Order: sequence, then structure tokens, then C-alpha cells
Amino acid sequence: MSTQLPLMAIRRFCLECQGGSPRSVRICPDAACPLWTWRLAALPGEGPQEEDKTSILRAAFRAVRRQCLACAGHRRDVRTCSAREGCSLWSCRFGVHPKTYKAVRRRFFAPKALSLF
Ligand code: SF4
Ligand code: SF4
Repeated sequence: MSTQLPLMAIRRFCLECQGGSPRSVRICPDAACPLWTWRLAALPGEGPQEEDKTSILRAAFRAVRRQCLACAGHRRDVRTCSAREGCSLWSCRFGVHPKTYKAVRRRFFAPKALSLF
């Protein structure tokens, strides 16, 4: 599931955007939407694609990030977005896997060795 996370999130988000109609998602005319090129993306194992899965997922996370910045307007507001279960993109809003974000945050805020020089 974790490798499918951004693609599943985009799928759900697009379906919600189009009132649950897969057909409307397919024919969505809003090519300026950051998720537009991803709205029909095949999940790993679903399609014939044998491209590098990691770079596909990275690009999908970046598309989610762009969507969140367009939605919230500022990085700070994306960070503090309180939508949680109310938005399918919420756990991907930093543009990286949630585990990566948590690990980086932990490292950043970890107590540092005290140096006197
Ligand atoms: S591509 Fe954008 S506008 Fe179109 S269905 Fe998805 S979220 Fe909605
Ligand atoms: S997670 Fe928050 S900022 Fe991102 S699209 Fe959803 S509501 Fe907007």
C-alpha cells in the first residue's frame, strides 16, 4: 500500500472533486490542475508501465504538494492544514512519504550534543 499512497490519494481526491464519477474524472477539462496528468495514473502492477516506480511515486508526491500549495496558498498553511481525514491528500501534503517526513522531523528536532567550543 505504501508504494501506492500518492496515486491512491490522487485517485480518491479526483473522485471526490468530480462527485464520485469516474467518467467525469476521465474527461476532466482542467488541464491546469496539478493533478490532471495523474488523475488516470495506473497503480504499480496495474498497467503495462515498467518505468522506474520510485521516480513515478516521487513525481506523484510532488504533484500533490503543488495541489496543496495551490489549495492553501502558502507552505505554512499546508503544514498546518487541519483537513486530516477530510482530505485524501492530507498525509501526502509535504510532497514526500509521511514516514520520510516524520524521520526528517525527528532528526531535525533531536537533542544535539552540547559543544563548548
Ligand atoms: S485533475 Fe484536478 S480538477 Fe480534475 S478531477 Fe482531479 S482534482 Fe479535480
Ligand atoms: S491536504 Fe489540506 S492543503 Fe492539501 S488539498 Fe487537502 S485541504 Fe488543501
